[in-house]
Amino acid sequence: MHLKNSKTIVIKIGSSLIIDDKKVIRKKWLVEFAKDIKNLLNQKKNVIIVSSGAIALGCKKLELNKKNLKLDKSQAIASIGQIELMNLFKKTFNLMKINLSQILLTLEDTEQRRRAINAKRTFENLFKLGFVPIVNENDSIATSEIKYGDNDRLASRVAQISGADCLVLLSDVDGLYTKNPKIYKDARMIKEINNIDFQIEKVATKSVGEYGTGGMKTKIDAAKICQHSGCVMAIANGLTLNPIKKIIKKNSCTWFLPKISKLDARKKWIISSVSPKGELVIDDGAIKALTKGKSLLAAGIKKINGKFNKGDHIKILDKNMNEYARGLSSFSSDEISKIRGQHSNKINDLLGYITKSEVVHKDDMVEI
Ligand code: GLU
Repeated sequence: MHLKNSKTIVIKIGSSLIIDDKKVIRKKWLVEFAKDIKNLLNQKKNVIIVSSGAIALGCKKLELNKKNLKLDKSQAIASIGQIELMNLFKKTFNLMKINLSQILLTLEDTEQRRRAINAKRTFENLFKLGFVPIVNENDSIATSEIKYGDNDRLASRVAQISGADCLVLLSDVDGLYTKNPKIYKDARMIKEINNIDFQIEKVATKSVGEYGTGGMKTKIDAAKICQHSGCVMAIANGLTLNPIKKIIKKNSCTWFLPKISKLDARKKWIISSVSPKGELVIDDGAIKALTKGKSLLAAGIKKINGKFNKGDHIKILDKNMNEYARGLSSFSSDEISKIRGQHSNKINDLLGYITKSEVVHKDDMVEI
């Protein structure tokens, strides 16, 4: 139902779907997957594929083990593997006459508003031209501090930027279970999640350790981004043939429903930042003002965590360290440390130049 109702769909496929644990490329699976995509395109839907597998295919080519690779080496391997990955897609998708393009993104491309808008335009133009973009992280360039590291969150940010209605995370897990199904007979798969509360987070964190699948945490992070972006998200097992057809027919996956969001595109982008650079802890008075829709002023700031520049994404926390809002800071952390706790009319004197009076303007802030 969710897939049927969606115009723009992002599908993320994990490395284990491209290449199995014996390092054999899953060609038949990819051929069938191309049929799934053709089916969506025939229904006039826009499709973006976020595909992992560059490092895995690079390792296969060089006959190396993926484990214990140093970052600089894995960057070279990703560069070798990415072309293998695209070749594989091109050959397979040619059979179904699907036009493909490639987009490699770094964290900064989605986290800086101007670059994110640019990426959005590119997706829109590719849809108009009838091409299916295949996205991956630009692993060869991204260093650890500017790296997503996982394609789950990258895919959710791509979904948010492209205004997608639906994101499907295909991996080797069926969905999110109430308990470990391998141990507990009464474990059941959660069909629909409206709210990612503490309980859900607990199940997700546990499942990483217990099933040894890894990655449930990043899938939940991705779901949070989707919830704020008005995008439905599914965690589904992609190992079977035609996984998309299977979701449409059997609905055997976990769906995360979006919150009804009245936020405009810019605020959706602010709230779903994946890399806030710092935190501002504020007092009760400031929380009260923010609740009334006011901007954050220097007077209410108690503590600054992290180093950030003007314009960076930051978290705004209450005195108990609960996240209250996200925003873009109008000042650097160094500047805030000079004006923290002070009345706004002192800012110009304290800093020695004329500047704004709001530390985070209400237009640059979204409550969580
Ligand atoms: N970008 C990585 C690759 O293509 C994969 C990251 C992930 O598995 O989430 O190899």
